[in-house]
Amino acid sequence: MAAASPSPPATGRHALPVADFPDVRRYAAQVARRRGRDLGLTVVLFALAAIAGLFGPRLFGALIDDVQRGSTAGHVDVIVALIALFLVLQTVLTRYAQLAAGRFGEGVLAELRENFVGRVLELPLSVVERAGSGDLLSRSSRDVDALSKAARFGVPTTLVAIITTVLTVLALALVSPWAMVPLLVIVPPIWVVLRWYLKRAPAGYLAEGARYADLTDGLTETVDGARTIEALGLQRRRLERTDEDIRRQYAAERYTLYLRCVFWPTAESCYIVPVALTLLLGGLGYVHGWFSLGQVTAATLYMQQIMGPIDEMLAWADELQVGGASLARLLGVAGVPADRQASGARPDGEDLEAADVRYSYVPGREVLHGVALSVRAGERLAMVGPSGAGKSTLGRLLAGIHGPTAGSVAVGGVPLVELPLGDLRGQVALVNQEHHVFAGTIRENLVLPRPDATDAHIRDALSAVDALAWVEALPQGLQTPVGAEGHTLSPAQAQQLALARLVLADPHTLVLDEATSLIDPRAARHLERSLAAVLEGRTVIAIAHRLHTAHDADRVAVVENGMIAELGSHEELVATGGAYAGLWESWHGRGSATSDR
Ligand code: ATP
Repeated sequence: MAAASPSPPATGRHALPVADFPDVRRYAAQVARRRGRDLGLTVVLFALAAIAGLFGPRLFGALIDDVQRGSTAGHVDVIVALIALFLVLQTVLTRYAQLAAGRFGEGVLAELRENFVGRVLELPLSVVERAGSGDLLSRSSRDVDALSKAARFGVPTTLVAIITTVLTVLALALVSPWAMVPLLVIVPPIWVVLRWYLKRAPAGYLAEGARYADLTDGLTETVDGARTIEALGLQRRRLERTDEDIRRQYAAERYTLYLRCVFWPTAESCYIVPVALTLLLGGLGYVHGWFSLGQVTAATLYMQQIMGPIDEMLAWADELQVGGASLARLLGVAGVPADRQASGARPDGEDLEAADVRYSYVPGREVLHGVALSVRAGERLAMVGPSGAGKSTLGRLLAGIHGPTAGSVAVGGVPLVELPLGDLRGQVALVNQEHHVFAGTIRENLVLPRPDATDAHIRDALSAVDALAWVEALPQGLQTPVGAEGHTLSPAQAQQLALARLVLADPHTLVLDEATSLIDPRAARHLERSLAAVLEGRTVIAIAHRLHTAHDADRVAVVENGMIAELGSHEELVATGGAYAGLWESWHGRGSATSDR
């Protein structure tokens, strides 16, 4: 069977890690221990409900025997009343058991979701960038959905099914040990097909998840970069990539479908056998006087009753595989090594020092090759250089967004990667073109780094970035809802909010990467001036695309091919007649009011 069967597709291209199955089991055991009370209550209530359900067939069997022996109508009424009573009891107990199971499942799910969000927020940015946001998106949507189904319904239903099956087998044995024989007949085929299935299903479902992540990744990239794709005429290539992803996703789905197509028909055919055998053997036994009619009836009813939970167990064995694979993908996020480790050291001073900094986004492809740079407190440093030289990368390293692959970036003698994130943002912050507007009011957007900021602080910060006038002109002022469902902000307004947020965060060093490039050039100059007034006395490292920024700076660093090629004041560099002098010459020649881009 295995030789002719399709093999599981390989896992994702560059996915985030996936936890291994012993880790998943350990995690599940920890959760069960932590929520022992809810779990215990669920098990006890379901066991009681199952026991109540076992009285019916036994009483019905007794009723048949009694009637055969010529029982009175009163006795029959008592037995029928008892059957009804146990039915009601079973219903009531099941209701409370479902409630306890729901509480258990929802609790587990909530805990898992919170852990997952916490872990995602701590993920090193470089890892997310490398893996692609599609992987993370599919884990937080598709995998959380699959797991939610398993945790809410799968775990409780499987528990009920196991308890009910065990108790029903015991009840069968009590009717007659021989009554268990028809059940034993189906154990070997079910066991074989289940083992066959479980050996293949985890890898199959993991591959399915990875393929889905690739597909989401590709589609997200295509939508995000739609304009670039159109401009460069890459539509065909993107379509081919999407087709290839769909083909691989289809192959992965087909593989798991194949597993189900072998597993389910075998299991389903096994359900009919025990009932038929019980009737056959029971009839034979009754004719020969080995069993009473009541025993045969009770055994047949039990046999029919047990097929429900067995079917549930097998069905959920399938769904639990999907849930297990999703759990492995969610827990895998915790397996990403941290890129920072708080050492507890406090910076002594505000000087920023980069020593022999090297950085590779992709192993083996270094983009910064040993950068050394000292920025003293209060200095204004401009970084200029050709596109792709490594300015943004260096800026991100100086702001502590990425840790260097080798070398160190330290503030006041403490490497940035040894500062807790909260402390780091109070020291140095990066502001670039990516300005996310969070759903909420303008005020809520601004106080994110400083929840205790007063309206006066907020107004000062808005005024510093020239945004106070338009914010106050809005009908609800600071309380105006913005973001997905609120008032739409222009990109320049969003950028101003980000700058105001930065003023409120109050770090002593700022790295500006094209921070003002979306704003009209005349407004940009204006904004830079008012920002400069607020930033007086702070260290500013500005990645400059307009050379007037470099002209106004204390020093200019020219970045070329991942290294600092020139470093000095504007005058010094112009006098040297090197690369910067050439840039200045060509820009100045075009007039200082226009952009160099
Ligand atoms: P620009 O002025 O165009 O923004 P830059 O000087 O800021 O360019 P960087 O953006 O730092 O240069 O890029 C330096 C090198 O690193 C380039 O070769 C670029 O392709 C590469 N690079 C940048 N970001 C990534 C990334 N996320 N993954 C892989 N390579 C990257």
